Amino acid sequence: QCVHPAKRQAQLASRTAAFSTTTAPRAGSDVHITRTGKPIISVAGGRSSLGGHTVTVFGATGFLGRYIVNRLARSGNTVVVPFREEMKKRHLKVAGDLGRVVFIEMDLRNTASIEESVRHSDVVYNLIGRDYPTKNFTLEDVHVEGTERIVEAVAKYDIDRFIQVSSYNADKNSTSEFFRTKARGEEVARSIFPETTIVRPAPAFGYEDRLLNKLGTPGNLLTSNHMQERYWPVHAIDIGMALEKMLHDDTTASETYELYGPTNYSTAEIAALVDKEIFSRRRHINLPKRLWQPAAKVLNAALWWPVTSADQVEREFIDQVIDKKAKTFRDLDIEPADLKDLTFEYLRGYRSSSFYDLPPATEKEKREERQYLHVID
Ligand code: NDP
Repeated sequence: QCVHPAKRQAQLASRTAAFSTTTAPRAGSDVHITRTGKPIISVAGGRSSLGGHTVTVFGATGFLGRYIVNRLARSGNTVVVPFREEMKKRHLKVAGDLGRVVFIEMDLRNTASIEESVRHSDVVYNLIGRDYPTKNFTLEDVHVEGTERIVEAVAKYDIDRFIQVSSYNADKNSTSEFFRTKARGEEVARSIFPETTIVRPAPAFGYEDRLLNKLGTPGNLLTSNHMQERYWPVHAIDIGMALEKMLHDDTTASETYELYGPTNYSTAEIAALVDKEIFSRRRHINLPKRLWQPAAKVLNAALWWPVTSADQVEREFIDQVIDKKAKTFRDLDIEPADLKDLTFEYLRGYRSSSFYDLPPATEKEKREERQYLHVID
């Protein structure tokens, strides 16, 4: 087969580039060599694509986990999902072709199970986190010690990439234990595995979020700061997209990313958008912090389902601060979505059934409806 010499030279150059550097983005090439010399061969082919990577996603059973597992599995990567609870992982199985999503039972205190989860992978994501302390795990256990065990396993098996999902406002001097432990988790990860990519998402919204769902659910919402805390809410799908790009672009190693949306809102402003979208006014009750914080602590300890916690009350008094040194969506060529453009998508389920977009039925339609009912019966 005759190939034009210039075209042939370009082909050779792109092949050589793909082989000679580990930092070249994978897009457009079918072979990619990782830092440790592992060849990654990818072939596009719909649901039967071959992605080439083997990726472990800790914390895949949570809200954000599905948005990255789905992207990785559907492009043909093998995704290892460490899990604790049988029923929480089922939806992930269908994200990819048969055999692409592999489950391993894991305990955050069981080093052997963590090592078993990472040893065959070339990329590891850690999305494990908790908003509140539980009976068995403090925030320190989850964000610092848990991270330490995972990163030690990553370093032991010389995994190519480690991506740690931390949090906005991660700060060792914060008044919130959540933000403090997230910052210490980052520090531990970087000290053991310096190539760690740190991702700090802002409060995320999406179908399974704890933002729009909390504001849309009927009932009394108890707060302490009149919902005046301000942040840049981010779309869960944008976070998934960013996490996937990091897998294919080795220049993101050792970097810190702050992922936040384009608009700054207070919770009260979001609550107003929610009320407008669902044609209803949800009741918000403001309690003084000195009463609500100790009560939240007692409720968190006494009840076995998530209600709130003293630290979550504390976080109501902390606005999001963006780290100017960190990279963001712009560096990944992603245009983040704005919350106000997606409220209909995520909140229509909360509308009362007496609100629908169709005009009232005519007499003729009502008669026909009766006929259909008769036929169905
Ligand atoms: P979720 O709470 O929905 O999921 C947390 C995940 O961590 C679950 O898979 C959960 O497993 C796992 N996990 C928690 N505690 C333990 C433990 N002790 N042992 C083993 N696994 C555990 O969180 P999101 O998906 O919303 O968030 C993902 C990450 O992003 C977290 O680290 C979170 O702190 C961070 N983040 C999230 C934000 C958001 O708005 N969603 C904002 C800022 C940061 P299981 O299902 O078994 O409970």
